[in-house]
Amino acid sequence: MIRAAELIQRKRDGRELAADDIAELVAGYAAGEVPDYQMAAFCMAVYFRGLTSRETFALTDAMIRSGETIELGRELGRRVVDKHSTGGVGDKTSIAVGPIVAACGVPFGKMSGRGLGHTGGTLDKLESIPGYRVELARDEFVAQVREVGLAIVGQTADLVPADKRLYALRDVTATVDNVSLIAASIMSKKIAAGADAVVLDVKVGDGAFMKSLADAQALAEAMIELGRRAGREVVCLLTDMDQPLGRAVGNALEVREALETLHGDGPPDFVELVFVAAARLLVLSDLGVDDAEARDRAAAVVRDGSAVEAYERWIRAQGGEPDEGVLPRAPVVREVLAERTGHVESLGATAVGVAALHLGAVRCLRKRGEAVAEGEPLAEVHARDEDAAARAIADVRAAYVLADEPPTARRIVLDVVTS
Ligand code: URA
Repeated sequence: MIRAAELIQRKRDGRELAADDIAELVAGYAAGEVPDYQMAAFCMAVYFRGLTSRETFALTDAMIRSGETIELGRELGRRVVDKHSTGGVGDKTSIAVGPIVAACGVPFGKMSGRGLGHTGGTLDKLESIPGYRVELARDEFVAQVREVGLAIVGQTADLVPADKRLYALRDVTATVDNVSLIAASIMSKKIAAGADAVVLDVKVGDGAFMKSLADAQALAEAMIELGRRAGREVVCLLTDMDQPLGRAVGNALEVREALETLHGDGPPDFVELVFVAAARLLVLSDLGVDDAEARDRAAAVVRDGSAVEAYERWIRAQGGEPDEGVLPRAPVVREVLAERTGHVESLGATAVGVAALHLGAVRCLRKRGEAVAEGEPLAEVHARDEDAAARAIADVRAAYVLADEPPTARRIVLDVVTS
């Protein structure tokens, strides 16, 4: 008999749980013996009381032990690198980074998630590619990374099943934005999937789960600590999520923008993040390159077209059609016009993310700091019908704040935290 109610009560009262207690609760949840309502109460208790670093490690470890693990490095005979984002708006980074890293000769096998809250998930984006299969069996996944150099898949049922259920539960119980729960969720997947080294993109700002740099730093440190305990190298990029990343927000538009970036034609903030993340992954790989050399190699594979070739090989290997022309297009595309002349002072990422989630996709034609004249387009909404377009136009217009002067410039990469 699992003492779920007793453990929830102890956490609710702010006491530290033993590793064995956490293991019992998670194993019970994975086995269907602890129901969702008790796990939701536990998550809420954690949300308010937090977990110590010992408890966070115990949770991560218990989640890993709820399923199988993959020794990807050993199976490939290579040092394996991986990347993950804490979740943001317009975040299609892995779709561009994966092919660049693979084109540089470093295997990239990644398990991605679905959207949480207002943030889009890489899997949902990839599913907009006709034919793309997000579900590969474990052996298919390993074989594809070995043969094609690149695979991005959904979490297989046997890998960290406890996180798969918990992730969906947290999404509907307002318990996503907690440092320990996010850290355990991300690191359990990364460790179980066999990465030797991980680059984590920790989003900060309006559209992120971590609203302040201090909270993002705490999350970065928690994940670095979990990596250290599990013998994995972790580098955290703290990146701006006050405004959407790049210009495209919405599944097919984002895949298109990632592809444009691989063709050397992406929006500046997104290009910068893609190259910083790709270079960090190459430095952590077994190539033996420093940061400058890594950036040169990443730029070279975009210039000579081999990153696009890697993209095409990858999408075909997973059953998809890599041609940009087959991506779905919304029937109604309307512009959001500026009501005054000025500069974009801010562009709320959450508002744009929510509009894209419920009403269609958004292309932000003007980003923070850019000038616009009255009557010129700020953005485009891509909607299923006129009614959704009209509502999206109102929401996106409200997300823009225009001012006479441009705001102080803010870089996409705000900080880098290493172990
Ligand atoms: N991404 C994850 O995988 N888990 C979280 O909890 C948040 C973002």
